[in-house]
Amino acid sequence: MTVSIWQSNLPPLREVDFLIVGAGLVGCTAAYFAAQAGRQVVITDALDVALGASSRNAGFMISSVDVYYHHAIAKYGHDVTREIWHLAKRSQALWYEFINRAGGTVKFQRTGSLLLAESEAEAEDLAQAADAMLADDLNIIHHKTDPLKRGYFAAIEQPDDGAVQPFELVHAIRQQSGVSVIPNNELYHITQHDDKFVTAYTRMFIFKARQVLLCTNAYSPRLHPYFINKVVPTRAQCLVTEPLVAPVLNTCGYSDYGYMYYRMTFDNRLLIGGGRKQNIALENDTTEDRVTDPVQQVLDNYLKRHFPDVTVPVSRRWAGIMGFTPDSLPLVGVLPDMPDVGFAVGFTGHGLSLGAGTAERAVNMMLHGTHPGALDAKRLEPAV
Ligand SMILES: Cc1cc2nc3c(=O)[nH]c(=O)nc-3n(C[C@H](O)[C@H](O)[C@H](O)COP(=O)(O)OP(=O)(O)OC[C@H]3O[C@@H](n4cnc5c(N)ncnc54)[C@H](O)[C@@H]3O)c2cc1C
Repeated sequence: MTVSIWQSNLPPLREVDFLIVGAGLVGCTAAYFAAQAGRQVVITDALDVALGASSRNAGFMISSVDVYYHHAIAKYGHDVTREIWHLAKRSQALWYEFINRAGGTVKFQRTGSLLLAESEAEAEDLAQAADAMLADDLNIIHHKTDPLKRGYFAAIEQPDDGAVQPFELVHAIRQQSGVSVIPNNELYHITQHDDKFVTAYTRMFIFKARQVLLCTNAYSPRLHPYFINKVVPTRAQCLVTEPLVAPVLNTCGYSDYGYMYYRMTFDNRLLIGGGRKQNIALENDTTEDRVTDPVQQVLDNYLKRHFPDVTVPVSRRWAGIMGFTPDSLPLVGVLPDMPDVGFAVGFTGHGLSLGAGTAERAVNMMLHGTHPGALDAKRLEPAV
């Protein structure tokens, strides 16, 4: 958005050292690292802590690249694939540290995870993925048949993964950061005219900040044209059933190449998510946070096909908005026209897999000038 002459000095000026925009998983984790490094940090959010994708997700902490491992090697090269896997492991370790420090206030279960094949063809692909992962010494188990006996064809088990209550996690990270959040305070314009300060126009304040980090994920293209076609808002949907008498699963994970996913909640509800593959046009390029019948129909059908023993009604359906990048890897960098405005965005549905390590890299880039590695957003900029 632009700023008119009438708006230009309306809200009071507030000087800040390090301003973070977005109080989701990534913004709160970045706040933790910046505060630990001794910076005076403030977070501003259009809504409040964890009201975006960070508490609308399925809560899987699954180490993953966006496609099966051998396909990732073909897509990104072996070095980048290994780097992203290590970033996922780093993120997982950081989440587990936050959870442990939270002393029981964040529900979490180290369930492990299963990547399940929905067809013979996917099972063959999974076998190749398993070979490539084992060749890289990754901690996985290849099941040549369906370990759940629910109509799948094969699986890769990742014993280190887990499932969390994501809303509680973000609040715990915010609390451990010691940083305060200004809620209901959308950033609508940002400029940097000289080397000294970034000017950030928000509803309640015009901030003069030494540095700003945008953790606005799916909503980034609304903030600056740099993100147009680099971060595409993409809807994801879930459902949960009423509580079951006993859990029908002791794991969580994906099937159909990650397009479908499942877990138990901590009060024994079955959660099913996905349904985007059959509805790409409907679900892509939208910030409309609502459920749609065609996607929910896919979820209902999946529930009937793989969990016919679950006969309790569905109790809740919801949606959230993810930020997809063209190559599915997150983006870390600084805005080309504003050297003190950095960003960590574009998690492509994998913020609980890659978010903590990405936030750490973004803060290190802002504070110490370190290179963000394979996450460097310059990879998407036209060569000059
Ligand atoms: C249904 C669903 C299921 C998912 N399941 C999983 C999963 O199981 N595992 C996994 O790894 N990932 C999953 N994801 C993806 C994961 O939730 C995201 O990758 C992650 O939450 C991104 O975190 P974030 O902090 O970058 O973004 P968000 O949580 O969206 O936070 C961005 C914040 O920025 C604020 N903001 C935006 N614009 C402005 C502005 N102009 N001014 C001020 N504030 C602003 C928003 O209000 C929001 O609070 C899922 C997503 C969805 C929707």
